[in-house]
Amino acid sequence: MEKKRSGKEERDPAEFENVIEAMFQASIYVEVGNGHKTLFWTDRWLQGQSISDLAPCLSNAVGSRIKKQRTVAQALNEDVWVRDITGALTVQVILEYFLIWDLTRDIQLIENTMDTLCWKWTSDRMFTTTSAYRSFFIGQHPVEGAKLLRKTRALAKCKFFIWLVLHDRCWTAARRKKHGLQDDDTCVMCYQASETVDHLLTACPFTREVWFRMLRTLGWETLAPDTQSTFLVPWWSAARKQISKDNRRCLDTLVILTSWLLWKERNHRTFDQRVRTVDDVLTWVYDEIVAWCNEHGTIYAISSDFGDRMTTQHLD
Ligand SMILES: [Zn+2]
Repeated sequence: MEKKRSGKEERDPAEFENVIEAMFQASIYVEVGNGHKTLFWTDRWLQGQSISDLAPCLSNAVGSRIKKQRTVAQALNEDVWVRDITGALTVQVILEYFLIWDLTRDIQLIENTMDTLCWKWTSDRMFTTTSAYRSFFIGQHPVEGAKLLRKTRALAKCKFFIWLVLHDRCWTAARRKKHGLQDDDTCVMCYQASETVDHLLTACPFTREVWFRMLRTLGWETLAPDTQSTFLVPWWSAARKQISKDNRRCLDTLVILTSWLLWKERNHRTFDQRVRTVDDVLTWVYDEIVAWCNEHGTIYAISSDFGDRMTTQHLD
């Protein structure tokens, strides 16, 4: 069970940070006034986008030190930005240069007005954590399962993990292989298949046993994913339709919590060579549920959802 550790594997937390950073960046833009506070190459000031986004090749032809300093006011003064371009002039760079040239022709700076940082997700464009949190779940495009997720009571960190699952942004072995970060993408739970996020959370034999035994505790073993269940969201949606409305929140919370712990188990196996059995994972899930009920009882009130059931019908 020895897995090679490489420097690359330690990148994962940073990748996670990058996703949050990218989402934050995607949520803000600048309304340019006098252009003194806005960075020409990197801030989102041109039709809500940055030049790095609009013209990535052109932007790569500019030194990073210049990018961190050049304000819009400086750049537009006698088209100083053109002199910032020092890299190779490939066809793509030149095409992008024309694009930015055209886009910057009609910009009028307003001398007595400060640049304003705007937040996309509220009508008054002021940043709030609630709107930031909601934007994670609404996103710019409707995503299957996102509505399901918003309504579910679960800790923010778990919901955020599911948000990444829905957007297929988890750094699974399959994804890392696709990006050339590793050669082997075999699932660390079953060693039988490629480790995609849907495999890990739904199709993997290890995972299916966890789901089956977990759901059996609640008398819901028929809802467990079977050999035909390949993807998380279709399985989850179908399963919740088979139970009464009152019970759906319980199932949703359980799905999110269990998926999150399965992901953590995958990380323990991948990075720490620590292996839990199905029994261990089940105990872990129950412990987490009890901890939630104690800690968040008044907020989440999940004890009424399944805390009671758990205490009366505990593990085999
Ligand atoms: Zn597997």
